[in-house]
Amino acid sequence: MFKALLLTQEEKATKAAITQVSEDQLPAGDVTVRIQYSTLNYKDALAITGRGPVVRSFPMVPGIDFAGVVEHSGDPAFAAGTSVLLNGWGVGETHWGGLAEIARVPGKWLLPVPAGLTARQCMALGTAGYTAMLCVHKLEQHGLTPASGPILVTGANGGVGSTAIAILARRGFEVVASTGRPDAHDRLTSLGANRIIDRQTLSQPGKPLQKENWAGAIDSVGSQTLANICAAIRYDGIVAACGLAQGMDFPATVAPFILRGITLAGVDSVHAPMERRRSAWSDLARTIPLDQLESMIEEVPLERAADLAIPLLAGQLSKGRVLVRVQDAK
Ligand code: NDP
Repeated sequence: MFKALLLTQEEKATKAAITQVSEDQLPAGDVTVRIQYSTLNYKDALAITGRGPVVRSFPMVPGIDFAGVVEHSGDPAFAAGTSVLLNGWGVGETHWGGLAEIARVPGKWLLPVPAGLTARQCMALGTAGYTAMLCVHKLEQHGLTPASGPILVTGANGGVGSTAIAILARRGFEVVASTGRPDAHDRLTSLGANRIIDRQTLSQPGKPLQKENWAGAIDSVGSQTLANICAAIRYDGIVAACGLAQGMDFPATVAPFILRGITLAGVDSVHAPMERRRSAWSDLARTIPLDQLESMIEEVPLERAADLAIPLLAGQLSKGRVLVRVQDAK
């Protein structure tokens, strides 16, 4: 038996409870992992509260990422005792996920914990950190350098946003952070934001073409905010779009695309190819200022993870990320 946060559905309402589960109930997979750390992501909060159609079948263990140690393996790439991590592939949605002491997954979904990081540090970064690095890679592959001009980061106090700020600042970019949290200004500045703007300046309907403010942007907000960002990207610039914290709609015009040649690049972390993941994780290990990680996380035991789902969705967390301590290494 092992401990899991189990989601069940009764009369269309999602219930979340810490439950003892038998290993026989684990889904198919050739690698069994003893989980040490997981995280609480925006998607997990939607799953736990039932506010978004994240979970495809019940009962479900939420948690779209985890890090731990291989316990049993039928995959020659991962011997017992190897430290591994997982992001996405539908865990916590269609396959039991990381908010449990044990997970069973196909070995092809796993990556070794990169040199230079511990399992705890990997999950302190989590899917949000890995997605932030995928976004930064999109900007760099497009040719942006610190000389290109300021980069806007929206949802700045969130997991993706705060990590993106830290990475961009470390690489020498001028970073402008958009947030709705005046109390987060000091934190965002210490992460590396050069300037902070109120997110309300981006969230209302605006002109199809606006002053060319940003060389590039990383947007985890979507909706009207993304439309306004596109309208204010400099000629030939790029937006890496990964989220929908404001909404899934995109009320934009083609004007910035056909008159300024801007690029809107989508970023998906769930099904990203292995090579892209490896590159993002090893770059995170090299780039991320580990001494700043602690200021980005709130650590809770597995038993408390579900309590933070509503505050996370309401944007009320004091720090960007929730690190979930499942169990210590054995
Ligand atoms: P968080 O909840 O940690 O952060 C979201 C941030 O968005 C909040 O902190 C807040 O920032 C801002 N925000 C919230 N509500 C609104 C609103 N109504 N209008 C404008 N801004 C708002 O989430 P994550 O950083 O983990 O994820 C951000 C988004 O990216 C989510 O939509 C998530 O689903 C998505 N995502 C996508 C991935 C992919 O593979 N494409 C992977 C990971 C995440 P502030 O307080 O600073 O204003």
